[in-house]
Parts: sequence; structure tokens; C-alpha cells
Amino acid sequence: MVFTDDTSLSLQAAVALVNSAEPPDTLTGMAELDAFYDGFSYTGRRDRTAAELDEVRALRPRLRELLLAGRDDAAAMANRILAEAGAVPQLVRHDEFDWHIHAVALEVPLATRIAVETAMAMVDAIREDETSRFAVCADGECEALVLDLSRNRSKRFCSVACGNRNAVAAYRARQRS
Ligand SMILES: [Zn+2]
Ligand SMILES: [Zn+2]
Repeated sequence: MVFTDDTSLSLQAAVALVNSAEPPDTLTGMAELDAFYDGFSYTGRRDRTAAELDEVRALRPRLRELLLAGRDDAAAMANRILAEAGAVPQLVRHDEFDWHIHAVALEVPLATRIAVETAMAMVDAIREDETSRFAVCADGECEALVLDLSRNRSKRFCSVACGNRNAVAAYRARQRS
């Protein structure tokens, strides 16, 4: 395992959030934000307002920049996010989750919590020199992010759809040559 479970989950959530901005945008309504929140086991404050949705949507370019940054730039960006949010790491235990770290309170707005959680996960990735686990999808037409958590670093495509499309294209190219 490259990262701890909670770090992996935070990084996967960040990638899913960033990728939701790829056309067609798949984070345009409350039901989609609910599915994201539940799907990645977020806890804490939910306003369920248009403002909350807008803030989460607006976070996506910044997270994309963070996840794709080189190690040194990523460190500076993570530091900035943590400082802006006034992050104070605290060990907490709640619901079904054993001791883990929250760096901001559960009452802080969702977009800020997502940003801080991503920054905290990037702290691990940076310390372990694993920021190269992030890449843009190897499909020429696709700008979505890939998080490769595999031991042999074999993941190149953001989705099964992109993988299959390229497998078919590679097969056709071989047939022609
Ligand atoms: Zn928690
Ligand atoms: Zn792709």
C-alpha cells in the first residue's frame, strides 16, 4: 500500500472532484454533491445551498494545480491552503472511524474542509516523495487526472472507457501495419 487508507481516500476524492470538471461537468446539482460527499465518506457540516455548491466547484482548478504540481510547488501550495484555513491538526475519533487527523473543525464550510483534507493528504505524498503518482490521462483527448496507487505503476488512463478506447486504437494500428 502506497498511502494509509485515509490519505488514499482523500486523494481519490480530490481526483474525482477535479475530474468532475471535465466536460460534460458532472458536479452541477445538489444530488451530485450529495453523492460525492457520501461516496467519499465525508462528515461534518453540509449547508446544501447554491453557495456551498459554487464554492466546491470553484475549488476544482486549485486542486488540479495542487495535484499536478511538482513536489516543491506542491509543498508551497499545501502550506498556503493550510495557513489560509488556520489549520490545527487534531486527532479525532468519530462515527465508525478510528483515530485520525482533522486539521479544521467539522463546522468549517465544506469547500474549506475538502481543500484542507487534500492538502493534508498531499503532505503525506510530498513527504514520501510520491507526488509523481498523479498524471493527466494518457488518452490524447482526455484531460482528466489519474492517480496511480498500483505497486507497479501501471495505471495510465483515468477510466475504463479511456483504457478501452486506446486498446482498440492500438489494436487497429497493429492491424494496419
Ligand atoms: Zn473524520
Ligand atoms: Zn481519460
